[in-house]
This record gives sequence, C-alpha cells and structure tokens, in this order.
Amino acid sequence: MAKVFVIVEQRDGRLKKSTFELLGASAAAGNDTHAILLGDGVADLAKELGAYGASKVHVVQNASLKNYTAEAYCAAIAELAKSVGPDVILASHSPTGRDFMPKLAAKLNAGLASDCIQLGFDGGKLKVRRPVYAGKATVEVEFVGSGPQLATVRPNALGIPKPDSSRSAEIMSFTPSLGDLKTKVAEVVQGSSARPDVTEASVVVSGGRSLKSAENFKVLEEMADVLGAAVGASRAAVDAGFRPHRDQVGQTGKVVSPTLYIACGISGAIQHLAGMRSSKVIVAINTDPEAPIFQVADYGIVGDLFALVPLLKEEFKKTKEH
Ligand SMILES: Cc1cc2nc3c(=O)[nH]c(=O)nc-3n(C[C@H](O)[C@H](O)[C@H](O)COP(=O)(O)OP(=O)(O)OC[C@H]3O[C@@H](n4cnc5c(N)ncnc54)[C@H](O)[C@@H]3O)c2cc1C
Repeated sequence: MAKVFVIVEQRDGRLKKSTFELLGASAAAGNDTHAILLGDGVADLAKELGAYGASKVHVVQNASLKNYTAEAYCAAIAELAKSVGPDVILASHSPTGRDFMPKLAAKLNAGLASDCIQLGFDGGKLKVRRPVYAGKATVEVEFVGSGPQLATVRPNALGIPKPDSSRSAEIMSFTPSLGDLKTKVAEVVQGSSARPDVTEASVVVSGGRSLKSAENFKVLEEMADVLGAAVGASRAAVDAGFRPHRDQVGQTGKVVSPTLYIACGISGAIQHLAGMRSSKVIVAINTDPEAPIFQVADYGIVGDLFALVPLLKEEFKKTKEH
C-alpha cells in the first residue's frame, strides 16, 4: 500500500472531474489516499472528496493560495510532504499540473512522469504508462531510488469512479508558512467562453483550416451545444485567428482524451494527432478520402462538413429527444 497525495484541482468553488479520477484510481488500488485541497476559503469542498476515494483530506489554506501560483503551491505541498511523507504525488496533466509539478519535483529532488495514461501500484512503488513520439508508442516507466514519485495524469484517461456517499474522509487543516514568495497574482481576467474546456469535456467537436472563418465555426458550435461538447481547433485554424489558442488541440496546444472526438475538416497531421489520438472514439469528417485523420478514426465520413454537420446535429437532437 502506498501513501498517495492527490493534488485537488478546483476553480470558483467547483472540484474538477480529473481530481475524482485520480482519487478513484488510487483508492481502487488500496492505497492510503490523501486529497490535498489548496486555496483560501475552500474548506467546504473537502466533504465531497471522501465519496470519490480520499481517506484523508488536508485542507491547506493561506491567502496566497487563493489564486494559483506555482511558487505558492509548491511551497505548500513541499511543506506538507515533509511532515506526512507521501510515496506518490499525483496531479492532473492540466495546464496547472503541467506548470507546478516539474517545479515541485525539482524542489523535492524527485522523479516526475508526465502525461500518464495508466497508473499501477506495487506496494509503495508506482509504475506508469505514458505516450511518446507524439503518441505513436507508449512506454512503461518505473521509479528508481528513494523519495516521492510524482506523476501527472491525462484528464479522462482513468475514468471517473461512481461516488459512494457512505464513504467519508478524515478532514485535517494545515496552515503552511510559505516563506517569502516572489510572485503573486495581481489580477485575474476571466475568459469569455462559457463552454467546457477541451481537456475536461467528454465530447470535443474540433474544426480545422477548412472552416475558413471564425464565423463558420458557428456550425460546429451548434452541434457542440446539442452534445454538451467543447469546441476545439487545429493549429491552422488558431493561427488563422478562427479560434483562441486555448482551444488548440495538439502538440503545441492541449492534449485531450474525451469519450468522443469529432474532427471536422482536419487533415490529421502528426502534431494534431499527438493531442487527440487517445480519445476513446474518433469520428472524422473530411472531403479527402486519403486524409491521414482516417487512419486513426473509428468512424469516417467522406464529405463536406458544411453539409454533414447540420445533418448530424439534427440526428443528435432527435436521439436526445427520444
Ligand atoms: C512544431 C509544430 C507544432 C505543431 N503543433 C500543432 C498542434 O498543436 N495542433 C495542430 O493541429 N497542428 C499543429 N501543427 C501544425 C500541423 O502540422 C498542421 O499544419 C495542422 O494541424 C493542419 O491543420 P488542419 O488540419 O486544420 O489544416 P489542413 O492540413 O490544411 O487540412 C484541412 C483538411 O480539411 C479538409 N477539408 C477541406 N474542406 C473541407 C470541407 N468542406 N469539409 C470537410 N473537409 C474539408 C481537407 O481535405 C484537409 O484534409 C504543428 C506544426 C509544427 C511544425
């Protein structure tokens, strides 16, 4: 049995689904699973974590943790790790996890495996599987030596466990001293999108250069609304200014692993595939039957997206209504 820290992600008083995945995977392996809830005024969120597998919740509060900074997070987690001594520290491979976990690994003089898609535990040892070469292969990684083993896990890779409301966690408070911090958040400017983020949505509808304009993305947005999906984009679409960079899927964008990924007018360049090939079901719509995207697609439709997407939207609508 390993003592596992799961770093909780929350925003605006809501816990992220990726946290539940990590708690569930750790608890299912019989580990002593500690949820680490950082922030300021976040104690109310602690109760929910037990139902997903946490045996203990450490509520780590400080005014400097209200708005995320890698520096404050690392200082607080390192301080807590020193007193609790975890074997493993897990975080989501979200923009936040990708940001602070390498810094934390350096601070703890520990190893880090990033963007993992499978976790295995053998006593106190962690074994992970992660993609390499833009997703063309996967490698198994074991940690050697002593000290905590750190890993970030791709959202949606493990699946969300069913919450068990009869389970509860022991809730403990921890007030870190944090020391002299050199950075602080001066202002948070909210993005305008009300849609789910591509990394968190279970359905992603993505469009490429072929959409030809920002306005034409409306055709994808309408289908996404029916499916409750996020809207993603290829880099070509982002570079052309059709979508903001936060929607970009791929090697230099976000890595997504939804239940369903619908690629509309995207050729399937290796750099795009690197961000979406671990999706559970891939549907591709493309006028070119030779487009590389069809090599990774579970279902392919050869045709014009402007004709096909509105038809699919109507079919999804009907299916939902019945
Ligand atoms: C270092 C580096 C990093 C990169 N990072 C990324 C990244 O993170 N993400 C990413 O996406 N790319 C990335 N790229 C770019 C990548 O190589 C491709 O150029 C890009 O993915 C192409 O985008 P696209 O598929 O939208 O456009 P195109 O390759 O131009 O493909 C458009 C597709 O739409 C089809 N089409 C045209 N009209 C229609 C229609 N009406 N209906 C249906 N289909 C139609 C065409 O047949 C074609 O297959 C990167 C490149 C480099 C060098």
